Amino acid sequence: MTAENIPKATAKRLPIYYRYLNILHDTGKQRISSTELAEAVQVDSATIRRDFSYFGALGKRGYGYDVDSLLNFFKQILNQEHLTNVALIGVGNLGHALLNFNFHKDSNVRISAAFDTNETIINTIEDGVPVYPISELANQLHEQQIQVVILTVPSSAAQEVAADAVAGGVKGILNFTPIRISVPDNVLVQNVDLTNELQTLIYFIDNFGK
Ligand code: ATP
Repeated sequence: MTAENIPKATAKRLPIYYRYLNILHDTGKQRISSTELAEAVQVDSATIRRDFSYFGALGKRGYGYDVDSLLNFFKQILNQEHLTNVALIGVGNLGHALLNFNFHKDSNVRISAAFDTNETIINTIEDGVPVYPISELANQLHEQQIQVVILTVPSSAAQEVAADAVAGGVKGILNFTPIRISVPDNVLVQNVDLTNELQTLIYFIDNFGK
C-alpha cells in the first residue's frame, strides 16, 4: 500500500496517529488497543480500525497494535525519515512568529530559508534562518530543492510571489494570505485564513452559543 492509495481523510489523520505513537514509543509502550488509541487521539475506534486496515495493520484480538511496527510504517509513509526543508516568504509579524515556531519538535519539517523585500533584514539571519532577497526566490528554491513554501506576504503581493515560487519548482504552498491564489494543477495550495477562522468562531458563538 502506498500513500496514493489511502483515502484523503485517512491520510489527514496519519500525522495525529504518528505523533501519539511516537509518544508511546518514547515511554516504552509496545502495544496499544484501538480503544486506548481512540481515547488518546479523539478519533473513534471504528475509524481507527478502518484507517489502519488500509495499510494492512489489522491488529490482533486481545493484543491490539504493535507500536513499533505502526511507527515504522507511518515514518515511511509520512516521509519522516528525511528532514523536509520549507521556505517562508514574508518575514513580517506572522512570518517571524512562524520562524520562531519549532515545527521540528513534532515533525521533521523545518524552515530553512526565508525571503523578503525589506532591505534591513535581507542577507541577515532572522530567528536562526537566513533571509534572502525575493529576487533570488526561484533560484534559491531550485538550488536548495525546496518544494514547499509558507506565504506570509501582504495580500497585494501574494499572487506574484506565488507565481515566482511555482517558477522555482514548488509543489505546495501554505497560504496565510486571505487571497485565493491561482496555481497550475500540479501545485497544491493549503489556505490558512486566521481572521476568517476567528470570525467563524465568533459567528457560531453569537448565533449558536448558549
Ligand atoms: P503580517 O501580515 O505578517 O502581520 P506585517 O503587518 O508585519 O506582517 P506586511 O505588510 O503584511 O507586514 O508584510 C509582511 C512581510 O512581507 C514584510 O516583512 C514585508 O517586507 C514582506 N513583503 C512585502 N512584499 C513582499 C514581496 N513582494 N515579496 C516578499 N516579501 C514581501
